[in-house]
This record gives sequence, C-alpha cells and structure tokens, in this order.
Amino acid sequence: MAGLIITPRETDFERISEQQVETLYKEVGIGSNTFEHIKSRLKKVTAEQDKTDKEKAPDVSVGILSRERIRFKLEKSYTVNGQEVSGEQEVTSSCGKILWKDMLYTELLFRPQAPDASFSIYDVTIGVNFHWEQKETQTFTGQLRITVDGEKLYAINTLPVESYLESVISSEMSATCGIELLKAHAVISRSWLLAQMEKRKINRIEKEKQISCVQKDDELIRWYDREDHTLFDVCADDHCQRYQGITKTTSKNVTEAVQGTRGEILMSIAGEICDARFSKCCGGMVEEYRYCWEDIDKPYLTALRDTTEEKVDIDLTKEENIKKWIHSSPNAFCNTTNTKVLSQVLNDFDQITKDFYRWHVSYTQEELLQLISSKLKIDFGKILNLIPLQRGKSGRISRLKIVGTKRSFIIGKELEIRRILSSSHLYSSSFVIDLLDLDAAGVPQRFKLIGAGWGHGVGLCQIGAAVMGEKGYTYDAILRHYYSGALLKKFYE
Ligand SMILES: [Zn+2]
Ligand SMILES: [Zn+2]
Repeated sequence: MAGLIITPRETDFERISEQQVETLYKEVGIGSNTFEHIKSRLKKVTAEQDKTDKEKAPDVSVGILSRERIRFKLEKSYTVNGQEVSGEQEVTSSCGKILWKDMLYTELLFRPQAPDASFSIYDVTIGVNFHWEQKETQTFTGQLRITVDGEKLYAINTLPVESYLESVISSEMSATCGIELLKAHAVISRSWLLAQMEKRKINRIEKEKQISCVQKDDELIRWYDREDHTLFDVCADDHCQRYQGITKTTSKNVTEAVQGTRGEILMSIAGEICDARFSKCCGGMVEEYRYCWEDIDKPYLTALRDTTEEKVDIDLTKEENIKKWIHSSPNAFCNTTNTKVLSQVLNDFDQITKDFYRWHVSYTQEELLQLISSKLKIDFGKILNLIPLQRGKSGRISRLKIVGTKRSFIIGKELEIRRILSSSHLYSSSFVIDLLDLDAAGVPQRFKLIGAGWGHGVGLCQIGAAVMGEKGYTYDAILRHYYSGALLKKFYE
C-alpha cells in the first residue's frame, strides 16, 4: 500500500504516528486481499479478450458486380433498416443514390435472419473479356450490401473468410486434385486474402499509388500488379480470385483441405503475412520476385531449384548457361508427363499442349514484325534481333532489346515481354532466340524462340507441387520447399 499525506502545518505532520497513517490508508484505500482479487480478475478478462480476438475468424467483403440496376432475390427473410424483407428485389441508381421501393438510400445492408439463408443475384457476368463471357444467376450466403459510387451501384457480399476460401478453391482447382496440393493452396489463398485485407486497412490511411511503369523514349518497363479495390476487399473475378458463392457445390476434398488448415497462413520472419505468389510451371528454377514486379526483395520469394536432390548452383542470368539449360531437360518436380498429375492443375487439360516444361515458337519476319509493331505502335523497319539485356535467376528475361533496321526499343518486365511477342501470351519469358535464314543484308527471315516453363515462375510451382503431393510430401513440406524463409502460422483458431 502507498499514499501521500498532506497536512496543513508541518507540526501536524510530525505528530502523526505510523498507526494513524495505516488506519487512514485503510479507510480510503483497498486492502491487499481485495487488490489481489481485482488484479486476478483483470488479468482473466484481458486474457479472454485476447483469446476471442485471436480466435475470431474475420469476414471478407467481396464485390460481386457493379451496374446501374441490380436485380436479386432474398430466398429467406433478411432485415434491412429495421424492416423484414424477402423475395424479389430491384435497386436502381438515381442521382448518386440507391432507389429501392420508391425511397432513396446511400447504402442498404441486408442481414440474413438465419445462418443458412441465401440470396441470388441475377445477370452476374462471368469470364469478363474472355470469349466465353456470359451472364448467370449466382447464389450467396452471408450479408448483401448495396452501395453507390458515382452512377454505379455495387453489390457486395460479406461472409466468413473460411467459407469464401471453400468457394474460390472449388472454382480454381480441379476436383481430382490431391489433398496435400489442395491444403497448400488453401494456405496460399488465405495468406493472399488476409494480406490483401491488411493492405487495404493501411491504404485507407496512406492512399499512396504504387508505380508500376518506367517509361523513357526508347524504353518501356512495365509490370502488372493487382490494383487494389476501395469499396471492398476483393472482387469476384479472376482479377482477384474467382468467386461464385454457393452457385457450384464444393467438393468434399476442398472442404477437408480448408477445414484442415483453418486459420493457417504463411508469415515472413519479420512478422508480415506473405504475398504468396504461384504460377503453373517454373521450368526447373523458381524465379525471384524483383524480376517480375517491383524492384524490392521479398525474402520468401527467392530463386531456387525445383528439386530436393541436386543442389548445384547454376547462374542462369548468363547467356551461355541459359542456352544449355533450355536445350536440356533438367530434373525437377515439374519436369513430368504424368497425365494424372497434370490434369490436377490444368483445368482444360485435354485442349492444351503438354510441352511447357520446354517449348518453342517460330515466327516469320512478317509475323514477328506485325505482332511487335501492332502492340508497341512503333515503326521498326525490319526486325534484326531480340537481345536479352537482363535475365532473372530462373533465366526469365526482364529487359529485352528489340533491334530493328529503323530503331531499337527496350521492353520489360516478363509479362510485358510475353504479351508483346505473342498474339495472346508466350508461355514464359525464359527463352533463347535463334535467328534463322538471314538474307544478304543480314535480316533474319525466321525467328525461333525456345523456352522453359509456364508463367512468372515466382513462388509455388503448381505442377511441381502436384508432383510433390503425389510423391507423398505433406502440404507443409511443399510450402517450406517453395517459400523457404516463410513460417506456417495459425492466424486465428
Ligand atoms: Zn479484384
Ligand atoms: Zn517447377
């Protein structure tokens, strides 16, 4: 017990005895027993608060569509603004507000009365900008929020992160997928999602725009990263992760994979949620982050050989080494022709080529010139050469010089190169160039690109991970292999 006694005169202070002080203190203060009791209760409350905060799985808000008029059906009873509603509904945009049942609102939040309640939204566009783009009715659980931005209304679905993951993994992965690969994907998707949600929280305060383009007179270096959403955490399109609510049934394996890894994410040693990237096939060597996106280090997205056996260091940034590498078929998890494994990762497996570990593409002078000049809107004359100026650790070109008879131009990074040198996309930017049939003036009449892998090659290699799963590796071993330097942590119970 402690306290401070102030007396009017010094003589009064000197006359006070120890016993008087103690009596006074006991009258105004609390006893040691009471103090201990309060202390223990406070500790208990704080610990319980911590526990509930940690245990509580977060909700995610998903932007389903934006339009001037949205039609939907509440299959069961929902509450909105204190009233109960169900059945067919229509909202339209009117003077920057939401018009619903002859009244104007700035926001409408439909909360389900029962946990199994669902609502359906009509005319949701799927496959935006793809040849199979179409409209369908989609069904969702959780809350429906209608909000407005300018002339457009937005339908936003809020639901628990774990339910969202079951839906997106069912959409993205084949039903024949092995359980360990599905579990690895569940952890990756969850990490990506929670990182996205955290980032949005910070961006709300900072509002800074990331640079993703360096443009000079003779150079265009561009990388494509997801632009963040402002009205919701993620959209329902491939731009984020394809989400169709409960429209399609979830496979038993996906439910098992999501529930079996509940709350688990990848974290960096510095304690931040990992930006867990993945691509289809690394081509034998996993690429480092900075060669595909921003020039920064992500310590868990580093270059590595996609094997646990052979650990010979090969410097694939050097032209002589990459040539040998691409012309050979080095041992790697993703070096496989096992159709059972390939069909797990490649959804429309029957329609696509199986040669992507090593591939080649040939162009005539006219074809290549047409491709490049139509995409860059530059008159090159004739194409004389394609010269790699910089390669990443997996051999992926991040700066490529296009040399023409009239002028030269430098392009990058990997996705821009793949886009410009193909009518759709090249499999990867890890390739070497053969100049063939040179005419008298030294102008090649044919170009052959010989390449390795499919996609940016950063982080998890899906084909490699599927093979690892088949070989009996568990999901945590698969994740440790591709994200060495990341830790598997439980973010909530
Ligand atoms: Zn998106
Ligand atoms: Zn691989």
